Amino acid sequence: MTDCLFCRIVAGELPATVVLDTEHLFAFRDISPQAPTHVIIVPKAHYANAVELAQAAPALTGELIAAAGDVAKQDGIDSYRLVFNTGADAGQTVFHAHLHVIGGKPLGPSGLDLH
Ligand code: 5GP
Ligand code: ZN
Repeated sequence: MTDCLFCRIVAGELPATVVLDTEHLFAFRDISPQAPTHVIIVPKAHYANAVELAQAAPALTGELIAAAGDVAKQDGIDSYRLVFNTGADAGQTVFHAHLHVIGGKPLGPSGLDLH
């Protein structure tokens, strides 16, 4: 048993609205969507963040990003923002690497909230 929220979702221990389930990847709708499409894609294996994932498993990282295209196609959108929050000060709250796929409405020029 793990205390990682996304490992628990991948394991089916916590409910989620699943949009993709492949050999290496799992995708589900964000519980607090910021746009009509807001999907989280995770590797089934645990890595703390996107950079650790990319350093340890570059092919899997490519698979993860490519899966965003499948999610977007499934939701019928062709414009979307891909976000990897990395580190607490950047807004990362779940320390299991994940890609946000956000779209389905005009998102504005950057979406970056830099103060
Ligand atoms: P982060 O802030 O770490 O980049 O993204 C974590 C995301 O996970 C947030 O957008 C948050 O709304 C989402 N989230 C947190 N807890 C849950 C949950 O239990 N289920 C789902 N589906 N999403 C969650
Ligand atoms: Zn995990």
